Amino acid sequence: MVVDLHLHSDASDGTETPSELMRQASTAGVGVAALTDHDTLAGLQQAATTAHELGIELINGVELSVDHDDVKMHMLVYFVDPGGPFEAALEPLRRGRHIRNAEIVARLNGMGYAITIDDVERQAGGASVGRPHIADALIALGRFSSRDEVFETLLHDGGPAYVERSRMSATEAISRARDIAAVPVIAHPATIRLPEAGYGELFRTLTDRGLGGIEAHHSMHSPALRARLVDIADELGIAATGGSDFHGEGKRPYRIGRGRGDLSVPMAAVDALEAQRGR
Ligand code: AMP
Ligand code: ZN
Ligand code: FE
Ligand code: FE
Repeated sequence: MVVDLHLHSDASDGTETPSELMRQASTAGVGVAALTDHDTLAGLQQAATTAHELGIELINGVELSVDHDDVKMHMLVYFVDPGGPFEAALEPLRRGRHIRNAEIVARLNGMGYAITIDDVERQAGGASVGRPHIADALIALGRFSSRDEVFETLLHDGGPAYVERSRMSATEAISRARDIAAVPVIAHPATIRLPEAGYGELFRTLTDRGLGGIEAHHSMHSPALRARLVDIADELGIAATGGSDFHGEGKRPYRIGRGRGDLSVPMAAVDALEAQRGR
């Protein structure tokens, strides 16, 4: 049975509706899936309806951008429930996105790219609007051919049109998650900018504060890194999870359940995640 615990829909920066995403997951053989949109739970209900029809076990998730002592990282939170205090804490994050998107558009205008915030919102359509939608608006202008190209040229962290946005601290995200018996997991550690020696200490500190897992099996990780991260998670006594980070066909070279072709998330990841619930 295929497992994929990291998927995006058009509630954030994926291109498929939550229902279509579940249908594609089913076609890919997925039996356990998690929808993990950025800063929003808006897609979960629709995904749950279709997942139920297709016999997919759906885990409610979300992906946050957090920081810890100036180190930026993404955090996946699993077993979140719409309507509660955790969801309320996401609203200021989406508002922070709004402010930041307008600043990025202003920068782009200053650089001669004539897009408006309305163009960006129209590209997004969903609840959580971000840089990928700004990229889509620039592509619609005809100036670029892919999100990747726009990120490389303008929007990457520290890039010419990049603007920082307000983040939740990793500690706050962890404690808000544990308050509702949800499980916080560090996403794709390969994107954390730290010397390799620093990972161990970071993971240990956050585990002391309640971290429940590390996303070891991710599309962008090499097999060697996946194995190393599984070992680290084992040593810390937390879950080694995994998923593709699929954003829709053609958006990134990642396929549901398979990543770049070599991804295989073990069922043990789901068991370990469930064992972390309520800890
Ligand atoms: P934001 O959340 O608005 O800061 O946008 C960051 C998101 O953009 C990430 O979470 C990815 O989903 C996406 N992203 C980052 N780099 C790239 C890239 N090179 N190509 C396409 N999407 C990207
Ligand atoms: Zn994304
Ligand atoms: Fe991420
Ligand atoms: Fe993601």
